[in-house]
Parts: sequence; C-alpha cells; structure tokens
Amino acid sequence: CGIVGAAALGSDITPILLEGLQRLEYRGYDSCGIAVHMDGEPRRTRSTSRVADLRALIASEGLQGSTGIAHTRWATHGAPATHNAHPHFSGRPGGKARLALVHNGIIENHDELRTELQAVGYVFESQTDTEVIAHLVDHLYVDDLFQALQQAVRRLQGAYAIAAFCREEPHRVVGARNGSPLVVGRGEGANYLASDALALAGTTERIQYLEDGDVVDVQPGGVWIVDLDGHPAQREEHVVPAYT
Ligand code: GLU
Repeated sequence: CGIVGAAALGSDITPILLEGLQRLEYRGYDSCGIAVHMDGEPRRTRSTSRVADLRALIASEGLQGSTGIAHTRWATHGAPATHNAHPHFSGRPGGKARLALVHNGIIENHDELRTELQAVGYVFESQTDTEVIAHLVDHLYVDDLFQALQQAVRRLQGAYAIAAFCREEPHRVVGARNGSPLVVGRGEGANYLASDALALAGTTERIQYLEDGDVVDVQPGGVWIVDLDGHPAQREEHVVPAYT
C-alpha cells in the first residue's frame, strides 16, 4: 500500500520514515512496519495497529539508523497479521537475516517461485507473495544488492513497487517499479524512495518519478537509475511543493 525508504549519512532517519507513513495513512492499511540498519544488521518493528503505535514501539525499543525502509500494508496474500506485515527478512538458510524488503502490489507467479526457493532451502515465515521477492533477491545476491534486484525483477510477473536494503551494504537502499508507483526524493546528504511524493512532503520537494521497469540505487551521495534494458536512465527532477 505505502512505501518510504531513506539512505542518509549518519543522521537517524526513523522520524522521516514515520512521518512518511503518517502522510500515507489516509489510504488505509491493516498493518505497518519499519526496518533500519542498526548494530550491523537489519532490525525491524511491525504492528497491526496504527502508525502512532508503531512510533511508540520504535521509541521503546530504541530503533534508529541512517538507512531504512517502511511500509503500510493492505493485505492481498496472507491475512492481516504481524508475521505477514512488511518488512520481510531473508537470509541464507540457517543464517542471520541479512536482507529487509517491502513491496506494494501483487506477484502473480509467487507459487512457482516459492516452490523453487523452498527447494534450495528457504523457509517461509509468512503467507505473503512479498516474502518470495525477499528470498529471491537474497538467493541471487553475490556482493551487489542493486545487481541482485535487477536479476530478481526479471523473474517477477505482476505489479510491484519494491524497496530493500541489506546487512552487507549499510548505506544503500534499492528499489524497483512495475505497475505500482515509486518516486525518488533528492535531499542534502540523504536520498529517499516513496510510493507517493506526498510521503516526502515534509522532507524534500525534489522528486523524480520512476517509470515501469526502472531499478534504482539510492545512496546518501547519489542516485542511479537503470531502465528495463539495464541502460542508465535520466528521470526529470520535479519540484513538488510541500502542502501540509
Ligand atoms: N501483496 C502484498 C501483501 O499482501 C503487498 C500488499 C500491499 O500492496 O500493501 O503483503
């Protein structure tokens, strides 16, 4: 339903992620969650309650980091429940979680992909189509999350906007879109991803609208976009004034 992501240099981005989720609340959702890179690994908090309650959980758990993703979920596959809420984690079987991922949309070939991934040892913790993407990206990961996502989306059928980060590359959030909206927000010493420019209205007015097939690499110092064919893509920057 709603996505926010941020890659900053040093500063804690949880307030930006929470504000983004709050700005997207009006669309409706059944659960919400945040993952940040903290103490060298992805850490998450998820809730079937309101974003205000997620905010309280985050404060009490002391969750903070300069790289992270957040999501409000409108369930399509798997009941509204904490274990189905995003972000979803993946990691090599038996290993620590090393990838966190959120998704809007529906993956149509999730059954086929789940069977394949189970055959190589991935254990599923949810009934969502989204967890299939997380394990697929992890499975394809060698040492470059952007490359792994580029390869993964070639296997996906359906509609998606995706944002993800991993333990090994703490300053990077990657994203992809096909049939579900995703925008890049350009900041100073930080860059952002969101399913709607509105989510970033309090943070930046500089917005680039991604196109179907785009895969994006978001780092504090820059943003790199490639199109469906893997060619570098220029997406015009728009000024979207904050309306509060
Ligand atoms: N299909 C995914 C799920 O059910 C994403 C739903 C959404 O767009 O929020 O978890």
